[in-house]
Amino acid sequence: MLIIGSHVGYKKDTGLLGSLEEALSYDANTFMFYTGAPQNTMRSPINEEQVEEAFVKMKEVGIDPNTVIVHAPYIINLANGDSEKFKFSCNFLKQELKRVHDCKMHYLVLHPGSHVGQGKEIGIKNIINGLNEILKDDTSDVTILLETMAGKGSELGSSFEELKEIINGVNKKDRLGVCLDTCHIHDAGYNLENFDVVLDEFDSIIGLDKLHCIHVNDSKNERGAHKDRHENIGFGKIGFKNLLNVIYHPKLEKIPKILETPYVDREYAPYKEEIAMIKAKKFDPKLLDKIKNCDAK
Ligand code: FE
Ligand code: FE
Ligand code: ZN
Repeated sequence: MLIIGSHVGYKKDTGLLGSLEEALSYDANTFMFYTGAPQNTMRSPINEEQVEEAFVKMKEVGIDPNTVIVHAPYIINLANGDSEKFKFSCNFLKQELKRVHDCKMHYLVLHPGSHVGQGKEIGIKNIINGLNEILKDDTSDVTILLETMAGKGSELGSSFEELKEIINGVNKKDRLGVCLDTCHIHDAGYNLENFDVVLDEFDSIIGLDKLHCIHVNDSKNERGAHKDRHENIGFGKIGFKNLLNVIYHPKLEKIPKILETPYVDREYAPYKEEIAMIKAKKFDPKLLDKIKNCDAK
């Protein structure tokens, strides 16, 4: 069975229940959320009652909570060795792991980090030190999923080898996994025309057992552009057919697929329509125009 959803909002007053309801409005059977705004680290405590209600509702509608994903905020950067910033990132991530655990969730997606001019070797060393520090005393069962990155600026983790290097340096390897983002690997240079080759490479370098989440996004840019600009499904340079190959790959059946495609006109989340198109397995080149012209928007 296809497990598909999108990133959804998380509001202080509605909590996890609000996120779940947004996901259900897209006919999704999983979702990804941030425990606050993705761009900042302001966080309020998790409301236990809303978590309980959300779990009752997930059971009712047949959503497996083990497929639901949490994403850490973007401004966390473990690769930056500046001691104040490094300390801040470590402390925030420790608290974030606790929030994920309080939400009774199991997966936290993390951008490995950017070396900000200090060089790849030092950047990777910082990430490893950070992860070891964060996981040292943590006894939760939350797995940190390192996301494959586009290689924009000084971003680390744009190759499977770099991610493997990070995992290799971490003591509690069982607490680490990977989230594969189709836009990011395309922008990093991987050829999604031959996804089987890419997946075999992933398997031999990192191991398929480490893959727990797939971000399904098209890309606005050519392969290898290192830009990281997401496009709606089928409307970018990866294309519908190649994305469908990822989404329906038999080896990835049990892995949740999460859309992070752009809002239409910056205000309408197109996930219900994109999910319907994916389930129909037929690209609708007019999909975005239809949304733009629809009054319901
Ligand atoms: Fe991400
Ligand atoms: Fe992503
Ligand atoms: Zn991205």
